[in-house]
Amino acid sequence: MATVASIGKTGSILPVAKGRLRRTVKNAASSLATRGPIQGHQDMRKISIKRKEIVRQAAAFRKTLTKTVGKCEICSASPEKPHRNLHPAMSALCVHEIANGPDRMKALDKPFAVLCLCWKCNSMSVMNKKDWPQSRQLAILLKSRPNDFDLTAFNNLVNPNAPNRITIDEVKEHLED
Ligand SMILES: [Zn+2]
Repeated sequence: MATVASIGKTGSILPVAKGRLRRTVKNAASSLATRGPIQGHQDMRKISIKRKEIVRQAAAFRKTLTKTVGKCEICSASPEKPHRNLHPAMSALCVHEIANGPDRMKALDKPFAVLCLCWKCNSMSVMNKKDWPQSRQLAILLKSRPNDFDLTAFNNLVNPNAPNRITIDEVKEHLED
């Protein structure tokens, strides 16, 4: 059996370790070359900075919208007329993006693509996409802020290649909801 001393004497540890180290460095280098994590990281940082800037620029618009509308466009609750039996935070107003998912960032400051909602409606009602398709949310917007309603602009924001993605008839179907 080889003892530590005998291994040390023959110097067998060092070449093995060196070989492993060389392989590790080589593997890391080749994975860097194929996946380019440094470039990827920089891109992510750029996106994150860009996002922050978009959110920052939209903040004033969103604050003004909640002030101007002053109540939930679905249920009419507001901090002044809060939901009964619910925590007051559920009656605070916020801006909800009708165009969500990957389109959410584009919708942040577009009056035709957002609703002013209470936290209850924002966190519960509209989360149910089956009950609240975009066409129904647009009908709320049409009733509440007809001057901001712009179906052409909304469809264009979501998909410029599908100008009839949502039709005015689909929106009008929900007007009596
Ligand atoms: Zn509400």
